[in-house]
This record gives sequence, structure tokens and C-alpha cells, in this order.
Amino acid sequence: SRYSNAAAATAAEGPIIPSVAVNYTQLLINGQFVDAASGKTFPTCDPRTGEVIANVAEGDVEDINRAVSAARKAFDNGPWPKMTAYERSKIMLHFADLIEKHNDEIATLETWDNGKPYDQAAKIEVPMVARIFRYYAGWADKIHGLVVPADGQHHVQTLHEPIGVAGQIIPWNFPLLMFAWKVGPALACGNTVVIKTAEQTPLTALYAAKLFHEAGLPEGVLNVISGFGPTAGAALASHMDVDKLAFTGSTETGKVVLELAARSNLKPVTLELGGKSPFIVCEDADIDKAVELAHFALFFNQGQCCCAGSRTYVHERVYDEFIEKAKERAVKRLVGDPFKEGIEQGPQVDSEQFQKILKCIRSGIEDGATLEAGGERFGTKGYYIKPTVFSNVKDEMLIARDEIFGPVQSILKFKDYDEVIHRANNTRYGLAAGVFTQNLETANILTRALHAGTVWINCFDVFDAAIPFGGYKMSGHGREKGIYSLSNYLQVKAVVTPLKNPAWL
Ligand code: NAD
Repeated sequence: SRYSNAAAATAAEGPIIPSVAVNYTQLLINGQFVDAASGKTFPTCDPRTGEVIANVAEGDVEDINRAVSAARKAFDNGPWPKMTAYERSKIMLHFADLIEKHNDEIATLETWDNGKPYDQAAKIEVPMVARIFRYYAGWADKIHGLVVPADGQHHVQTLHEPIGVAGQIIPWNFPLLMFAWKVGPALACGNTVVIKTAEQTPLTALYAAKLFHEAGLPEGVLNVISGFGPTAGAALASHMDVDKLAFTGSTETGKVVLELAARSNLKPVTLELGGKSPFIVCEDADIDKAVELAHFALFFNQGQCCCAGSRTYVHERVYDEFIEKAKERAVKRLVGDPFKEGIEQGPQVDSEQFQKILKCIRSGIEDGATLEAGGERFGTKGYYIKPTVFSNVKDEMLIARDEIFGPVQSILKFKDYDEVIHRANNTRYGLAAGVFTQNLETANILTRALHAGTVWINCFDVFDAAIPFGGYKMSGHGREKGIYSLSNYLQVKAVVTPLKNPAWL
């Protein structure tokens, strides 16, 4: 059934009670579930109510040390590096099958821990996790170096080797999907991994890692540490025996981990950080469709997307009509228990994000933007916020500059394309952009002029394992997904042999 692992609504009032058991709450080190060295735990909470779902082992420096040493041993002496790439890929494919088999339990845990609509978790995100592992399993035995023509005196070839122990730090907005984006390419390239999950959402990665071991992953290859950023996260970023770091989260924390990496062993770092992505509605756009897409671009996942279309630029000729319709659409958005069928928006992930978003809304009002819809909490319990729309937003207002990471749409007016290009690019971020137009020339001009790692034309949030993703400017370094992610996890070794008459003879 739809809630195969969640009991149906028991009463008209109160949240649906998920019936899936939370079985994995310890750290996963060297193939074993273990308590934190300190014995400490921390609660992970249900954002619908703020109630504790489970107490989870709290990893810290000593646990990171144990996990890194297990990953090092697995990389240097375990069966993993001796396997053929084909054998590694078969384990990844088997894991993807298990993810599919346990789709509903995983989706239930994800919704419970994060607050996202169950259908989104069950029909989009968990299937995408399987897709990503299959995609990278496909790459595993197709990674190879080149023969380089060089100087005619030498045979030169490159070997593409795994880097070693990859440290990975992920956020809470797409917990298992971020796990997949990071772990998929790292393992396909033959590395071993220590991943630190976000303290708000530790449950699904532990569940998935258990399945990975069932699929035949050798011990020590994948270690999962739950815990906080300044303790476990910082220990991982600054560890001398971690060979590569991949981070997704806020730009501020990105700076911190980059510095920790630089001050320790200069490990290379890929960063996927924040954004303030423009969504540009041109004068020729079909307004109803543009309203719907701009709405989706911002409100998807409770507005908790790094690439959210959080600056909606609308051409002055269609601006008034757009505002009316955007407001109507936001008011109609179905907010409620994310386990209920048809719900479009659940609660924000935690009290901190909830408070931060309400503060941003207050600043929009104080700065003189027009509040068209929402603007306050929804209900009396949990972290729900009414879908909020501001019009008359000016570029210099905080709501047009800072990442809100919530269901708050800021609509701005523009006159011509040169102006909107300048304004869209006038930000420290450069993660994504959306353009809505029927004119091919306008689409081409904007695509080339916008400083962003992804430009979606007449679509938004189209993600596939094969499409690279990453930012310009302070939205990050490097690209994830697709073929581009592989180079983050590979060393290139040049091997040079004289063709004849070696110099020493
Ligand atoms: P964050 O960047 O602080 O957390 C992301 C990850 O980094 C978590 O695993 C966290 O434990 C870890 N971390 C935190 N401090 C660390 C440190 N000193 N050393 C090592 N690791 C550390 O993000 P947050 O506090 O959860 O959210 C704050 C804001 O960040 C949000 O409001 C949003 O604007 C942004 N954000 C962006 C993304 C994204 O996908 N780009 C995801 C989550 C949050």
C-alpha cells in the first residue's frame, strides 16, 4: 500500500504514525555498527512535531579517527583494491537493487526525519538513488588512462588511480540523494569512504550502508558517522590521512572546511554550496506555465534547495498578471503532514531553519517588499510555514540577496534583457538559473550570459545522474554527477618509457 510502512492516519487530528522500525542508530565503522567512543548520543527529531524519533550515536574526533583508519586499511590492504572494477560494479548494482527493494521503508525514514512529502521521497528521490549507483557502477570498468603522443622519443601513458580515503560531509535537504552523489563516484573509482551525515537527518544513510554490506561491500570501504559539524565534521576535514574532501552545505561552512583542509594536509576539496538562483520570466512567456514553473522552482522541497529559483525576475509587461497568479498558486499549495496523500509541502527540517526563515520574512516586510501571501507559520505544531510570496522586491533587500532556504518567493520586475542579465549576475553565487521564454534567440543569449553552473530553459530542477551539477563563484568548486564527478576521485599518474636507446645505456 501507499503507506506500506506507515500506518494510515489514525485520527483526523495528529500526525500519521510511521510503522517502520528505526533499527540503525549506531555509527558504522569497519562494517560494524558501534557506539560512539564517548558513549554519547543525540536526538533526531520529527519536524512535524519536534518529537524525538530516536537517539543516535554522536560521532566525534575519536570515531572519525577509527573510521579513517578502517578506510585506510581497506584501501591499502583489503580486498577492495584487489577486485576488478567489474566486481566492484556488481556490488554497486546489487546495492541499487536492494535500495529499490526497500524503497518504501527508506522513503518513510526520509520523510520522518526530514519532513519532505512521502511521494517525493518514494517516487523521485529513492529511485534516483538507485539510478545514481547504477550509473556509476556502469562507469567503474570504463575508467582508464590515455596513451599520450608526447615527444616521439618516449612511450607515455597515464594511469587513472583512486585517490585513497575520501572524506565526505553532506547536508540534510536531500539526505540519501546527497549520500548517492558523493559515495557513487568515489566507490566507482575504487576509493574508500568516510561520510559524515547531517545531524538533522542521520537515519537513511545508516540504513543504506547496512544494505551496501548485504550487497557484498567489504568492511571498511564505507564508514558512516553521525554527528555534528564543528566536532565530527571538522575532524574529518582536518584529518591528515584523508586524501580528498567533498562537502555540500552552506557557503560559510564551505569556507571553514576548505581552510581546515588547507591547514592540515592540503587535501583537494570539492564544494557544493549555496545559491540565489534567478528565474527569468520573459515577456513572451505563457504566463500560466511560467507561474507554475516558477512556483515549483522555489517551493520544491519546502524551498530547501541550494539551486532554488529564489529570485523570480518578471518582465514588466507581464508582471501584474504574474503576481496575481503566483499569489493564487501559493495560496492553493497544500501544506500538511507529509505522509498524507496529495500534500505538496511538509514542515521545514528543524526549529533553527524555521526561525531563520521567519526572520527573513520579517526583514522582507521591514524592507518594504509587498507581502502577497503567507508570511507566518502554518498550524500550531511543528515547523510548517505558509507558502509566502513577496512582490516589489528590490535587489538590495536581504530577501533578494541571502539564501533563505524556505518557502519564500521574491518577485522582482525588469525592463530589458541587458538589465536582467546584469542583475541576475550581480550576486556572489552562481549555482543555477532558469529562463522561461518561447523565443530561441532570447534563450540562447541568456544561456550564454548567465554566470551559473546550470541553466534550465523552460524547465527547472531537472536532475539526472548524467547531468553535471556545481557552481560558479561562491557556489562552489568542481562538479558532481555525470562524467565530471569521476575526476574528483582520481589521481592521474604519467608513466614514461623511452622508445629505444635509454639515456643511461
Ligand atoms: P551547514 O553548511 O552548516 O551544514 C552542512 C554540513 O556541514 C552538515 O553535515 C554539518 O554538520 C557540517 N558542518 C557544519 N559545520 C562544520 C564544520 N565546522 N566543519 C565541518 N563540517 C561542518 O548548513 P546548516 O547549518 O545545516 O544550514 C545552514 C544554511 O546552509 C541553510 O539555511 C542553507 O542556506 C544552507 N544549506 C545549503 C545546502 C546546499 O545544498 N547547498 C544544504 C543545507 C544547507
